[in-house]
Amino acid sequence: MMTDENSKILLKPLVFRADDYIPEVVKNVLLERGWNKYNEDVQEVADWNLYWRTSAFCMTDHNNVKPWQRLNHHPGTTRLTRKDYLARHLKHMKGIYGASLYAFSPLTYIMPNDYIKFVAEYSREKETLGTKPSYWICKPAELSRGRGIMIFSDLKDLNFDCATVVQKYISNPFLIAKYKSDLRIYVCVAGFQPLTIYLYQEGLVRFATEKFDLNNLKNKCAHLTNSSVNKTGASYKKNKEGIGRGCKWTLSRFFTYLRNQDVDVLLLWQKINHLVILTILSIAPSVPSASNCFELFGFDILIDDKFKPWLLEVNCSPGLSLDCSSDVSVKRKLIHDIIELMHFKQICLDNTKKKTDEASSHRSHISWTGGDKVRVHESSKHWCKISWAEGKKDRDLETSGQWTNISQFGQKNRIHTLSGYTSHYKEPSKILSLLEFRGIVYKANLSVLQENIKIFPKEMFIAKPKERKAKDSLPAAFPKIRNIQTTFNSFHHSPSSESCKKKKNITPNLLSDKGTRPCSCAGDFVLIFPFNEATLAATKKGLDIKKVIHEIQKFVNKQPTPEAEDKTKKT
Ligand code: ADP
Repeated sequence: MMTDENSKILLKPLVFRADDYIPEVVKNVLLERGWNKYNEDVQEVADWNLYWRTSAFCMTDHNNVKPWQRLNHHPGTTRLTRKDYLARHLKHMKGIYGASLYAFSPLTYIMPNDYIKFVAEYSREKETLGTKPSYWICKPAELSRGRGIMIFSDLKDLNFDCATVVQKYISNPFLIAKYKSDLRIYVCVAGFQPLTIYLYQEGLVRFATEKFDLNNLKNKCAHLTNSSVNKTGASYKKNKEGIGRGCKWTLSRFFTYLRNQDVDVLLLWQKINHLVILTILSIAPSVPSASNCFELFGFDILIDDKFKPWLLEVNCSPGLSLDCSSDVSVKRKLIHDIIELMHFKQICLDNTKKKTDEASSHRSHISWTGGDKVRVHESSKHWCKISWAEGKKDRDLETSGQWTNISQFGQKNRIHTLSGYTSHYKEPSKILSLLEFRGIVYKANLSVLQENIKIFPKEMFIAKPKERKAKDSLPAAFPKIRNIQTTFNSFHHSPSSESCKKKKNITPNLLSDKGTRPCSCAGDFVLIFPFNEATLAATKKGLDIKKVIHEIQKFVNKQPTPEAEDKTKKT
């Protein structure tokens, strides 16, 4: 029996607290999902479920957190997000586990302490290169958005007046139509004890808006990819050949571009997986223990012309402003998915019930006629479902009538359902790009799509892509699908995780399988750590880093060496 006190908590609508800087998108998504904003005149002091701040919480906030509350920052994560601290932690890991495992981090010196070491390296390199210039980038340790950054090749140009890092400048970036870019990858650490890391399968690619030119190191719009820098540049609004207007693409568009260039996107994505895990491992043991908090990090990753990912920096409170259509399509869903991941749904019974009732009243009847078709059908005014099947049986489709995630299914189970908020997928083009992103549709018959999903006919078919080559027998999907089946094979396919998988398909839950295992996905967040039984065991009594590194090394050793592959490009 529920006590009065408990039932009171359960029946209250969810409430979020926020500082003055809460991004509009976070506020709007929460309100859209039926949350109330905390009002101290009306609500009790502890009467909130989520506290979203741009800056860190103090330890008292962490110590006083109640079981029904969540904070959007872990304590102690500046170890990762301050450039000099990050450099120190990565250097420490290189020292213990070998430079090759951490070779994704450019050589970095912390100023002023490392000045002499830097000058020695600079001189050594000058000698080796002869007349060829070497390039370095100088970045204030605590600033962001490209402020105070300078690139130099001559030591006499180096100057700094605050804590600064000097880093090897990656002078051979992968260019699209001569424009440099870097990736903004979203990572959610749902807990440090035990360590639980989710990688977002969508993201942003940020372009410099002037052509890359090593002869002009002063042109920030050619060398820095920060949108805050490029937004104010003369070329921002121009329709730039090869990249278009503005300065951002979605990650899925970038991967489609790479795939068309015959780049092995899966291998690149695996490298990014490892880079993220290894980076977070560098601080995990030193993060103070705190419960009921999570953190969304923005990893800035540059891809060079050999398709090697380099970690540039890690951001706390990554920018969530909606400046362009790529921002809108990525960030709104990102926030929806993070709320799903945090599993707030169960706290509020009345809200959940209302939504469910509403959803069922709008549910369209689904009848499957077979054939290789993709079907878009409206389910409710809050969300829609998109089904794709190669199977011909009605009962197959029943499995797609649940909240589920495409990554749960392999080739054998040929039913895929995608769910999302209609406000996000309102325009047909968004639905198409979503399907493309999943690798399901290559050619869609646009003419059958109406302008608004609410007036879609009940059943709508989009032609399936032409036959794929044998070597690509799985749908050439975003790496997520194959990623799970290859890299994390043992974890996701272990018989003991079956019950966990079933539960997850219905309601994302951070801890599934009687509280012993983290759920493997929520929306587009996919669990990347722990990634198998051994790494799960390594998180049980404290974090056994050695064991984890050993497991990662097994995967890394299986990957082709740079010499063998020369580049991540397929032959
Ligand atoms: P900030 O916190 O100011 O954004 P970053 O370290 O992210 O600082 O650097 C800003 C931009 O400078 C990056 O987005 C990237 O375009 C460029 N950049 C930074 N470090 C390097 C590097 N080592 N090599 C090449 N480009 C870099």
